[in-house]
Amino acid sequence: MSHILVTGGAGYIGSHTCKALAAAGLTPVTFDNLSRGHSDFVRWGPLVEGDILNTTALDKVIKQFRPSAVIHFAAFAYVGESVADPINYYRNNSCGMVNVLDAMLRNGVEQIVFSSSCTTYGLPDTLPISETMPQHPISPYGRSKYFCEQIIKDVAQAHKLRFCIFRYFNAAGADSSGDLPERHDPETHLIPLAVDAALGSGPPLQILGSDYPTADGTCERDYIHVSDLATAHVKAVQHLQESTNSFEMNLGTGRAYSVLQVLSAIERVAGKAVPATWAARRPGDPPALLSDPSLAQRQLGFVPQFSDLDTIIETTWRSRR
Ligand code: UDP
Repeated sequence: MSHILVTGGAGYIGSHTCKALAAAGLTPVTFDNLSRGHSDFVRWGPLVEGDILNTTALDKVIKQFRPSAVIHFAAFAYVGESVADPINYYRNNSCGMVNVLDAMLRNGVEQIVFSSSCTTYGLPDTLPISETMPQHPISPYGRSKYFCEQIIKDVAQAHKLRFCIFRYFNAAGADSSGDLPERHDPETHLIPLAVDAALGSGPPLQILGSDYPTADGTCERDYIHVSDLATAHVKAVQHLQESTNSFEMNLGTGRAYSVLQVLSAIERVAGKAVPATWAARRPGDPPALLSDPSLAQRQLGFVPQFSDLDTIIETTWRSRR
């Protein structure tokens, strides 16, 4: 059975992807330092505790399992934290990327799926965002991911490497069978925080900004279900095995919802009001992000199945109740 090395497989998107890989007959090998991941999320293949900054550990896990591809999730992902501590972000995300690619080259692994972000587009001039639009990230986090993309492309020019770069829009939701929840520490994401506020297990939600140039003054985002993201990664691995091309694409739905629309959807789906207060804008938040999802549909045949807002909220609600 083919092994796939999943760095960061104990994290939110990584663990959902491991489940999807196993369902497709592949064996995910999670390589994770558990600094932000959870060992109890690793249930569909072996867990090797290790750090992407440790080249010896990377060599060892690749030599042991001989993966046919790497899916690289392991990274820090908080914009605010990246502003306060850029060195840590460039070291872990960008230097970590160099280490992963270097270990792949040393050990003859020629395919990588990389988790990048719509953050690399910065403040887009027009919506929806297609892959050909310029990337001008505005935070160290966004830049660390953008640099990773450039590094992958340079390495692929020089060596035998094929890649799929995914730029996620807003990952949300939880596994529908209840196998995996969303568990971030700290939790900063809108939907889990709003659900916790409605459940009474968290403080009232702060609505961060009321004066954005959007229809209702709150930020608009394109939310995609984590299980759909997982499916896209499996399709990417299969596609890389069959084709000779590399590709980069958005993963989103092509629909955006404002913060207020998300809150009223929670109230409708869960039948409970979301206690909320108004607060100042969060620095670095673009007013609106919306993907053009057509390339992933054309190239991978990827169409989200669980990403309607009600399903995202329902699965989050069930996993946090
Ligand atoms: N947001 C909010 N209150 C919160 C957290 C987030 O109003 O406590 C807003 C945030 O300003 C953004 C949207 O919800 O417009 C989505 O934020 P999230 O942190 O979930 O994802 P991001 O877009 O930052 O990746």
